[in-house]
Amino acid sequence: MLTEKILHEFETILGKERILTSKEDLLSYAYDAYVEEYLPEAVLFPKTSAEVSQIMQVASTHRIFVTPRGAGSGLAACSLAKQGGVILCFTMMNRILEINKPNRYAIVEPGVVVSEFQKEVEKIGLFYPPDPGSATVATMGGTVLMNAGGMRGIKYGVTRDYLMGLQGVLPSGEVIQTGSLTAKDVTGYDLTRLICGSEGTLAVVTRITVRLLPKPKARRTLQAIYNTIDQAGNTVARIVEEGIIPATLELMDKMIIKALEDYAHLGLPLDAEAVLLIEVDGDPESVEKQAGIIAEFCRGQGARDVRVSQSEKESEQLWMARRGAFGAVARMRPTCVIEDATVPVSFLTRAIKEVITIAQRNQVQIAVLAHAGDGNLHPLVLCDLRDKEEMKRVEKAMDEIVDFAMSVGGVLSGEHGIGIAKAKYLPRQLSPQTLNLMRTLKNTFDPLGILNPGSFLECAP
Ligand SMILES: Cc1cc2nc3c(=O)[nH]c(=O)nc-3n(C[C@H](O)[C@H](O)[C@H](O)COP(=O)(O)OP(=O)(O)OC[C@H]3O[C@@H](n4cnc5c(N)ncnc54)[C@H](O)[C@@H]3O)c2cc1C
Repeated sequence: MLTEKILHEFETILGKERILTSKEDLLSYAYDAYVEEYLPEAVLFPKTSAEVSQIMQVASTHRIFVTPRGAGSGLAACSLAKQGGVILCFTMMNRILEINKPNRYAIVEPGVVVSEFQKEVEKIGLFYPPDPGSATVATMGGTVLMNAGGMRGIKYGVTRDYLMGLQGVLPSGEVIQTGSLTAKDVTGYDLTRLICGSEGTLAVVTRITVRLLPKPKARRTLQAIYNTIDQAGNTVARIVEEGIIPATLELMDKMIIKALEDYAHLGLPLDAEAVLLIEVDGDPESVEKQAGIIAEFCRGQGARDVRVSQSEKESEQLWMARRGAFGAVARMRPTCVIEDATVPVSFLTRAIKEVITIAQRNQVQIAVLAHAGDGNLHPLVLCDLRDKEEMKRVEKAMDEIVDFAMSVGGVLSGEHGIGIAKAKYLPRQLSPQTLNLMRTLKNTFDPLGILNPGSFLECAP
């Protein structure tokens, strides 16, 4: 319980101006992009890792729960004060500290917004590939702690693949440094990778070192329109099988097409069943060649129309529309729950058709978006949280989607994380021994259990 005395200790560290306590302000930090809400007792905005260390010492002394938060764009209720206590929000700790071109790395504070960082490195010919659909709001810290993926995953991997090192503050207030600035480093356990994707449960991250690539010289976007899901799915399988690796390979079903048309007026045909949005990048000649081969694959699998973007502006428009897809669909009903089950890529078409059948069987509205090249499904379940009967059907549909993914060797989450949203399913993917080991690790980092309490490990049965 946050008493006046403890609040005063936090004020001594941050000053009153970097602490929110009014109900109106706290409400803005009571939710993320999932459906649950938990009101924190205060929100603290540190600017340095020394301040974070002092805050954690106070929290440890008085056993105050602390939940770190970036932009709050998470889809699994990971950044919420699920058991009260304070939110430690990193939006004011947002400096790019170094971009080192000769060694191709950068050091940033956790509150830097991903797309701002991407723009800065691109100005000097470098490239930071992790690109979640939320890049214009999500923070580097949030993406590290969720191990965010995104649209370029098929070619470039996920956030973890670009992490070189972290500075972290343990719940006790001790500061640790993991990783290094070298391209290779096998010294000891890989704590950087352990903390990455830990959903803010092990340490508070105050500094991030990432690896950068040279910026690809050219890119082309293709848009292929299909009369059936099978044709689109077969195209994905054909591209993957042939060993051509596009930078992105996204699939949208007809509900997404309709929502996007209503919102962005792209001229997509409303009678189409699926659209593939594909990007290739690299050297200009190889980009032209790959675009040509992929366009042929699309036509060969029955695409009724294939459009290749003719300019950077045209590509950008298509991708901005794709980024808006969640928002466009979410406008259709009061509540939108975004699923994230992921299957081996050869099961993608079956999985999409299964989701459509599950939706019909349970009389639930589900639109399907997929990072198709990764087998990462994003069924968007449209519903109304106030309608208890409908929510029961939604839950059943979600259970069935998870069952299907598990039955074909898939995973619970490809990138959105477990959080509260999926904790109940954890034993379906992880054995009791694995879960116990994870709990032991949590306990080693956080013996008092004050960091992000009520997280996935605590909610798991
Ligand atoms: C429209 C939309 C599109 C999206 N598209 C994608 C996508 O393509 N791919 C994808 O992977 N995700 C996507 N997401 C989900 C979300 O944006 C990502 O999970 C993102 O990584 C969250 O970043 P954030 O800054 O909002 O973090 P938050 O949601 O605020 O926090 C996420 C987690 O990180 C922890 N955390 C944050 N900062 C720190 C820190 N400094 N130290 C310790 N812990 C910390 C929090 O406690 C929490 O557990 C999307 C979300 C939306 C709304």
